[in-house]
Amino acid sequence: MDLHYTSTRNSEVKVTASQAILKGLAPDGGLFVPEDIPHLDVSMEELKEMSYQETAYVVMKQFLTDFTGEELKECIRKAYDGKFDTEEIAPLVKTDDVYYLELFHGATIAFKDMALSILPHLLTVSARKNQVENEIVILTATSGDTGKAAMAGFADVKGTKIIVFYPRNGVSKVQELQMVTQKGSNVDVVAIHGNFDQAQSGVKAMFEDRKLKEELEAKGYQFSSANSINIGRLVPQIVYYVYACAKLLKYEEIQEGEQINVAVPTGNFGNILAAYYAKKMGAPIDKLICASNKNKVLFDFFESGVYDRNREFVLTSSPSMDILISSNLERLIYLITGRDAEKTKELMEELKSGGRYTVTEKMREGLSDFAAGYTDEDQTKETIRKIYKRTGYVIDTHTAVASHVCARYKNDSGDTKKCVIASTASPYKFVNSVMEALGEPMNEDELSLLPKLQEITGVKMPQAVKDILDARILHHTECDVDKMEETVRKILGTDL
Ligand SMILES: *Cc1c(COP(=O)(O)O)cnc(C)c1O
Repeated sequence: MDLHYTSTRNSEVKVTASQAILKGLAPDGGLFVPEDIPHLDVSMEELKEMSYQETAYVVMKQFLTDFTGEELKECIRKAYDGKFDTEEIAPLVKTDDVYYLELFHGATIAFKDMALSILPHLLTVSARKNQVENEIVILTATSGDTGKAAMAGFADVKGTKIIVFYPRNGVSKVQELQMVTQKGSNVDVVAIHGNFDQAQSGVKAMFEDRKLKEELEAKGYQFSSANSINIGRLVPQIVYYVYACAKLLKYEEIQEGEQINVAVPTGNFGNILAAYYAKKMGAPIDKLICASNKNKVLFDFFESGVYDRNREFVLTSSPSMDILISSNLERLIYLITGRDAEKTKELMEELKSGGRYTVTEKMREGLSDFAAGYTDEDQTKETIRKIYKRTGYVIDTHTAVASHVCARYKNDSGDTKKCVIASTASPYKFVNSVMEALGEPMNEDELSLLPKLQEITGVKMPQAVKDILDARILHHTECDVDKMEETVRKILGTDL
């Protein structure tokens, strides 16, 4: 049976999966959601024996029903290959009494690789299915992580180009090097003389510029986006939660019928929403534990039913979670309204105009699958240090936020279910903060700390890190904030 997608803000919208992937966002500004969340059509017994790629296939085929089996398998094969430094793709590591689900074994050593390695392939198949002949140009503004993961994913994928904008002084040295050394004849990266918000506004303005759109059409190009609201990013993220449950069963860490809890370091609410979808599909998951850093807008929401972005924005050592608007939360809001697009639209308009909204008591009942917590900077550091001292295992700052929140949840609730913690980045990616947490001196020159982390902890430096240390710098483009469009024209050769 075909599964269609509708908009969280307009129940009239009905598109196929491939159309939803191509469009990214619904025309009314809402997010695409499946009309139903399908139930897993294989048993946990069967899943137990499956590889990551096989699991990906059985999960994703239920969401992408207009893809043929062959098309989907091809996408999976191209995505989850030797780019990952472990055959398991997403290994589970047991430490103390919890399980870390390591989502950082891809090209950029952070969890965005899990979805961005496959999105380019889903996108090109979707284009073919919908008779799109234009070359697809991905425009992305990045504060560090997404940009590189998208570049690595799209590099040399036929029929696509990618242009990434980042704030010249707003990303870490490792992140910058990762981007400016990216190979691929279809990738470009531009350092803008401005901050992340300006990069993002510039990209948004280009997406909305009709004249530019027509000009590009004439040259055989069309824009698309790779950001985390695309269902082509959400669906691949469901896979590793199903996979983790199946592996726990296989290794007899849990019994048939036993449920687990999942703790996720959360920013845009994409990763934890995928865990929720996995639960709805029938994976044996009980609580979804939403972990925030000091930007605890989500914690406050789960506590009070009020979402309020009117507050100070705090810079933390877990920058990928420094967010005040969690876009993917809209999909959960839609579900707890009982799939009421009118109501969802109303709340999202309140968020846009006044920066806050309140959900009804009835809606709050729909949040009972979630628990929430947050940590401050000291707790994050202490968590990294304590776990390392006790077990020798090193986690990054984002993962530490979830680890701390998970431990506190266990303590406060008395819930003794086994817990899987989504481990979203390699400690090498945030080496300065991790070294500081371990009580080592920080250094202006972040790169010099990379070998030191290995020396001290014995945790092997990932190949992706070694690669950037020797790689040649391939990209030098810079521009002023008001020259972004001109720069895109130059790159695409449409400025003549
Ligand atoms: C993006 C990111 C997150 C947050 O994930 P969301 O899906 O936005 O909630 C957490 N940790 C790391 C390392 C990330 O890159």
